[in-house]
Amino acid sequence: MNADAAMYHAKGAGKNGYSFFDASMNSNARKQLQLLQDLRTAVEQQQFSLYYQPKFDASNGRPVGAEALLRWEHPTQGMLLPDKFIELAEKTGLIIPIGEWVLNEACRQMREWYVLGYTDWRIAVNLSALQFCHTGLVQSVAKALAMHHLPANSLTLEITETTAMSDADASMTVLRELSEMGVDLSIDDFGTGYSSLMYLKRLPANELKIDRGFVRDLEHDSDDAAIVSAIVALGQALGLRIVAEGVETGVQQDFLTKLGCDSLQGYLLGHPLPAERFMLDIHRGEQLAAG
Ligand code: C2E
Ligand code: MG
Ligand code: MG
Repeated sequence: MNADAAMYHAKGAGKNGYSFFDASMNSNARKQLQLLQDLRTAVEQQQFSLYYQPKFDASNGRPVGAEALLRWEHPTQGMLLPDKFIELAEKTGLIIPIGEWVLNEACRQMREWYVLGYTDWRIAVNLSALQFCHTGLVQSVAKALAMHHLPANSLTLEITETTAMSDADASMTVLRELSEMGVDLSIDDFGTGYSSLMYLKRLPANELKIDRGFVRDLEHDSDDAAIVSAIVALGQALGLRIVAEGVETGVQQDFLTKLGCDSLQGYLLGHPLPAERFMLDIHRGEQLAAG
C-alpha cells in the first residue's frame, strides 16, 4: 500500500520520476478518498449553492449581468471554493450531474431577475472540459432555457481556452450548435493556454475574458500592460466583446477602460455573493445612480 501511494505520488508529479514513501502520502490519499465520498453525498443531498459576481459596463458603470460561481456547503469543513473540489469532480465524472445542477439553478435565478425587469442581463455559467465533451450538453442547455422561459441570449457559457482548443474539431461542432441556438459564448482565462489564432478566428465566440493574472500586475509590469492592450486589439479585430476579470484597483479600472474593455469584473466592483445579497448591492447602486 505504501509503495502504491509512493507510485501515485511519483505519477502525479509527472513522467519518468520516482518517490520515496512518506507518511503524509497516505493521509493525503485518505483525505482525497474521504472528500470523494463526501462529494457523492453532496450531489445526492444538494449541498451546493451559487454565488453571483456582477459584471459592469466599463464606460457607464451599469451592471450587465453576473457570473455564477459554485460553492459547496460542506457539512463539517464549511464553505468550500471550486479549487478544492472541481478537479476531483472532473476526474470522477461527478462534474456532469453537478454541472447540470449549476446550469439549471443559474437559469432559474436569471429568470427571477428577468421578470424583475433585468431583461438585458446575461448570466454566465462556467463549463468544464468534461461537460463540454459530454454528448448531452447541447440538449441540457436547451432544456434549462426552455424550462425557465429564457431567451438563449440571456445565457453566457464560459469555457477556458484550453478546453476549447483541446479537441478542436469536436468542440467546434458543439460550439456551433450552441451558437446557432443563440447562446452567448465566452473564452475564459484568455492568455493562459496555448491558443491558435487561426482557431480563435473560427470559434463562434462572442466574448474574450482577459485572465486576472495579467490584470493583477498591470500597474507594475509593463509587459503585462502590453499583453493586455494586445489582447484588447486582437479581440476588437475579431469583433469580440472584451471583459477583464480580477479588477481590484481604481488604476486597473481606468487603464482597462481606456484600453477599450467592454466590461469589468472584480473585487473592486463587487464580490461573489448569494443572490439576495447580490441584489441588495445592485439596488444600492441604482439608488446612488438616481442620486
Ligand atoms: P473563473 O471562471 O475564472 O472565475 C473567476 C474567479 O476569480 C472566481 O473564483 C472569483 O471569485 C475570482 N475573482 C473574482 N474577482 C476577483 C478579484 O478581483 N481578485 C481575485 N483575486 N479573484 C477574483 P472562484 O469562485 O473560486 O472560482 C474559481 C474557478 O472555479 C472559476 O474561475 C471557474 O473556472 C471554476 N468554477 C466556478 N464555478 C464553476 C462551475 O459551476 N462549474 C465549473 N466547471 N467550474 C466552476
Ligand atoms: Mg469564469
Ligand atoms: Mg477566469
